[in-house]
Amino acid sequence: MKLVPYWLDSISPVSGTALSEFPTRADVVVVGGGFTGLSAARTLAKAGKTVVVLEADQIACHASGRNGGHVNNGTAGNFQSMVGKYGLEQAVALYRFFDDAVDTVEQIVTSENIDCDFRRCGKLKVAWTEKHLAGLRADQDAVKQHVDPETDLLDRDAVAAEIGGSTTFEGGMLYRKSAQMHVGKFGSALAANAMSTGAKIFENTPMTALHRAGNVFEVSSSSGVIQAQNVLLATGTSRRAPNWFRRRVMPVGSFIVATAPMSEDLFSRILPGRRNVVTTRNIHNYFRTTADRRLIFGGRANFSQSSEKSDIQSGQILHSALTEIYPELESTEIDYCWGGNVDMSVDRLPHAGEWNGVTYAMGLSGHGVQMSVHLGHLLGQKLSGEQVDIPVWNRPWQPIPAYGLATHFMPVVGAYYRAKDRYL
Ligand SMILES: Cc1cc2nc3c(=O)[nH]c(=O)nc-3n(C[C@H](O)[C@H](O)[C@H](O)COP(=O)(O)OP(=O)(O)OC[C@H]3O[C@@H](n4cnc5c(N)ncnc54)[C@H](O)[C@@H]3O)c2cc1C
Repeated sequence: MKLVPYWLDSISPVSGTALSEFPTRADVVVVGGGFTGLSAARTLAKAGKTVVVLEADQIACHASGRNGGHVNNGTAGNFQSMVGKYGLEQAVALYRFFDDAVDTVEQIVTSENIDCDFRRCGKLKVAWTEKHLAGLRADQDAVKQHVDPETDLLDRDAVAAEIGGSTTFEGGMLYRKSAQMHVGKFGSALAANAMSTGAKIFENTPMTALHRAGNVFEVSSSSGVIQAQNVLLATGTSRRAPNWFRRRVMPVGSFIVATAPMSEDLFSRILPGRRNVVTTRNIHNYFRTTADRRLIFGGRANFSQSSEKSDIQSGQILHSALTEIYPELESTEIDYCWGGNVDMSVDRLPHAGEWNGVTYAMGLSGHGVQMSVHLGHLLGQKLSGEQVDIPVWNRPWQPIPAYGLATHFMPVVGAYYRAKDRYL
C-alpha cells in the first residue's frame, strides 16, 4: 500500500517556472499554488496581468491534490439551517454560489479541453437511520421548493439499487448537478494552462514576509523579493499564513483509501451510476469510483491531523467502514492510503475579502474543490479591474474559539461524535 494520494501518483506532474526567471515586479503575487491560486493566476494572466505564484511546496500537492474529487453542488451545511441562520434570500444566494462553482469548473475543463474525467454524476446523501432520512426529507422539500428542482428523495430500495444492493441505508437525497473529476489531472492542467498564458509559478518558494511599502507590497520569499500592486493569499490550511488567518482556518484531518482496480463485474455492481456518495453520520464517509475501476473511500477516521502514523491508522478504520457498506469488498486490496487537512471555518462557509489591503480566499470547509476554482477565478477577475459579485465577500469571519487548544481536543470531540452516531 502506497502512502501517497492516488491522484498525484497517477499523473506526470507539471513543473513550475525555472528559478532563473524569478522577477522583481509583478501586477499580482498569488501566494499558494492550490486550486484557488492556480485558478486566479490563469484568469489574471488571460486578462493580461503579470502574475507570479509562490508555492511553498509543489503545485496542488496539499488539499487540492489530496481530496475526494467530489465537485458537489449544495452548501456544506444543511439548507434549512442556513435559512434559519441567514434568512431565505441569503441561503438561496449561497446555495446558488455553489451551483455556479460547479459550472465554473465545467467551463474551464471544456474551454481548455482538460482531460480529467469530469462527469456530472450527481451526489447521493444517504441516511443511516430513519431520523436522518426524516431530516433529509424536510431539507429536500425546502431545497426543491426554493432553489434546486434537480434534487429528489430516494427510498430504501432506490438507494439499494444505487449502492450495489446494500440495504445499509434507509434512503437518500439526490443532487443531480454534482460532478466529479480526477483532481491530479485537473491541477496539473490548470497550472500548465496558467503558465502557457504567461503566469509564472515558482515551486519550493515559500513567502517569508509581507510588507506594505507606499502603494505597493513587498513580498519576500526564499527566492527573492517581489514588488506587487496586489497580493492574493490562497494559502489553505497553512501555518505559514499571517496569524489573523491561522486563527480563523482550522486544519481538520480527513483520510482516504483507494482500492486496487476491480473486475468489470464487481465494479459495475458496487456503484452502477458512478455517483458521489456522502453518508449522514456525524463522522461521515464519502466515496466514489474512478475511471480505472477503483473505489475512493474517505472520512474523518481517527480525529487527528494527517501524518504518516495517523494516515495508516485511518486507513484501517476506513477499511472497516468500507466493508460495513460493502461486505463483498473485504478481500479487495487497498492500493493507496493518504490524508490531508481540510480548511474549516467556524460557520462552514467559504471566506473571501480584503484584509489590510491583501485579498484572500480560504476556509472552504470541505466543499472546496469547486469553490477554490470559482473563487480563484472571481478574484482574478476582480483584481483585473472587473466588477464581480461575490456573495461571501468580506462576510464577518469569527476566529476559532480557544484556537491554540482546539487541535488538542479533537480526539475528545471525535469520541463524542462516535458515541452519538452509535447510540443516539
Ligand atoms: C482529504 C481531503 C478530502 C477532501 N475532499 C473534498 C471533496 O471531495 N470535495 C470538495 O469540494 N472538497 C474537498 N476537500 C477540500 C478541498 O480539497 C479544499 O478546500 C481545496 O482544495 C482548497 O484549495 P486551496 O487552493 O484553497 O488550498 P490548498 O490546496 O491547500 O493550497 C494552498 C497552497 O498554499 C501553499 N502555501 C501555504 N502557505 C504558503 C506560503 N507562505 N508561501 C507559499 N505557498 C504557501 C501550500 O503549500 C498549498 O499548496 C478535501 C480536503 C481534504 C484534505
